[in-house]
Amino acid sequence: MRKYLSFVHWIAIAVLIIAWIVIGIHLADNNYDFLTWAYIALVCMVLITICSLIKAFGAKCPHCGKRLTADSKFCPYCGKEIKESEQA
Ligand SMILES: [Zn+2]
Repeated sequence: MRKYLSFVHWIAIAVLIIAWIVIGIHLADNNYDFLTWAYIALVCMVLITICSLIKAFGAKCPHCGKRLTADSKFCPYCGKEIKESEQA
């Protein structure tokens, strides 16, 4: 789940950069037909924000269900090991 989340996060950042480059090229060309790219950039920014929020607040210990604040190998509440794939 978290690996998938990181994947989406990085794709969104990459697409956002590409969108800004395309918008920049259009502006330099005095071409104001970049509304589609503006929407894509907006969607990417929303995705990045959601992914950041899920990463910051969404991780839970698979053993005791307590919320984890950081990427740690062991749960600070129950002390059990947390495997990357087990994190919700
Ligand atoms: Zn725990």
